[in-house]
Amino acid sequence: MSDDRTAGPDPNIPGNHQPEPSAAATWESKAACTSVPAATFFLERYLPRHPDVQAAKAICGACPVLDDCRAYTLAHPGWTSDGIWAAMTPSERRRARKATDERTAA
Ligand code: SF4
Repeated sequence: MSDDRTAGPDPNIPGNHQPEPSAAATWESKAACTSVPAATFFLERYLPRHPDVQAAKAICGACPVLDDCRAYTLAHPGWTSDGIWAAMTPSERRRARKATDERTAA
C-alpha cells in the first residue's frame, strides 16, 4: 500500500475497502465490506444498472453501518474518490456532495 494516505485505499489489495485508518472510525469493524474482496467495489465502469454495480450496492444496502459510511464518504472525497461506497457510485457521491454544499450555502 502506498504511504500517501490521501490517495485512497488500494483497490488491488483484497479486503482493502475500508475508511482511512487515521479517521479512527469506530463503526468500521462492523462494515459488511471487511470480508469482501475490494475488487467488488472498485470497478472499471459504474453504469447504474450493471450487475456488478448492483451487487456492490446490495452489500452496502445490507450493511449495518451504512449511515455512518455515507457520512464518512461524503466528508472524505479524497479518500473515497473511486469505488462504490455507501451504496453510491463516484458520480452519485459527487452529486450528493454538491447537493449538501448547496444546502449549506443557502
Ligand atoms: S456501506 Fe458499503 S462501503 Fe460502507 S462500510 Fe458498509 S459495505 Fe462498506
